[in-house]
Amino acid sequence: MLPFIRHDIAGLTAYTPHPGEGAAQPLDPLDTNESPYDLPDFLKSALAEQYQQMIATNRYPDGGHGALKAAIANYVTESGHLPSPVQPTHISVGNGSDELIRSLLIATCLGGNGAILVAAPTFSMYGILAKTLGISVVSVERNAATFEVDLAVAQQAIEMTQNPPIRVVFMVHPNSPTGNALTDAELSWLRSLSEDVLVVVDEAYFEFSQNTTVAEALARPNWVILRTFSKAFRLAAHRVGYAVAQPPLINALEKVRLPYNLPSFSQAAALAALTHRTQLLASVTETLKERDRLAQQLSHDARFQVWPSQANFLYGRLSESGLPALGYTDPAAGLADIFQRLRSHGTLIRHTGGGLRLTIGNPDENRRTWENLKKVLAVTAAVNR
Ligand SMILES: *Cc1c(COP(=O)(O)O)cnc(C)c1O
Repeated sequence: MLPFIRHDIAGLTAYTPHPGEGAAQPLDPLDTNESPYDLPDFLKSALAEQYQQMIATNRYPDGGHGALKAAIANYVTESGHLPSPVQPTHISVGNGSDELIRSLLIATCLGGNGAILVAAPTFSMYGILAKTLGISVVSVERNAATFEVDLAVAQQAIEMTQNPPIRVVFMVHPNSPTGNALTDAELSWLRSLSEDVLVVVDEAYFEFSQNTTVAEALARPNWVILRTFSKAFRLAAHRVGYAVAQPPLINALEKVRLPYNLPSFSQAAALAALTHRTQLLASVTETLKERDRLAQQLSHDARFQVWPSQANFLYGRLSESGLPALGYTDPAAGLADIFQRLRSHGTLIRHTGGGLRLTIGNPDENRRTWENLKKVLAVTAAVNR
């Protein structure tokens, strides 16, 4: 290890987003919850023209994100059915919501100022980014049957954690990888937290769930929601996310971010996506239909347990009877084996949080997911017997 690198960095591994690379055949990329659909041709052409005619590559981007913030504010108001309009002062824009997560950590916990609380299994990036900043992560469990947070344990963690105390609670709504939305009990617990603790509600899958806590973020000084253009808006390539909160918190985020954090072309793409949102978001309906169809198919296989999902993915584990039926003794090893075999059949999913997470793709991909899974389970049952 280089002598000038922090010791705690030595223990970390770099994030490898695409385990699909180097595969013998093209894989259905159903591991990162992207939309299966590229932007429509007319919108790509319009963006290409804008690049040619209007974007001066020798100039820095709009570092204040003025036009984009106004358009986002408008969309947040409309989609949240809010009585009074959200203002651009309620919005901060990031290079993906990943950047906003890091900005939140810098603004709250860095330098021994605080720890974070997460409920596992959940989005891995909170823990990964916290660790790169030397911020400690307190992880509480979820109920194994419903994936609800154990609120008594969470409350105890808040009360007992000292030096530094928990400053931020991260929740995904609906959660990834498990697909469940925050319950009323979880929401009232979050509302009951002291204003010394920041509540982050990550609504990356809002367009699929239509479930939002944006009104809380506008009403409470210690509440922020995160959203992204990487999922339903079909814009993962452009890395655009945003935060909605009261202006004092937004100001703090604006202070710690990089000055030109969002390239001009990404700003243009996000603006175009918002302008044409009705058309782009029409694919959400199909995804939900496909999700429910695949869930229905999977539910007929007693070796699997698949949970209801509010998002564009499904989460499953081997059932109690599935483990011996497939000849496995260890659930984790069984899932790892199924993951690998699915991959060699061309379906790339995620093995995470003690289960398998399958992104809903286009109808052909979903058909292959189902067929490949049937093949894999038939072979596994025969081989292990
Ligand atoms: C996909 C996802 C994000 C999106 O991150 P970006 O950096 O905007 O691409 C954020 N949070 C959760 C929970 C996600 O699943």
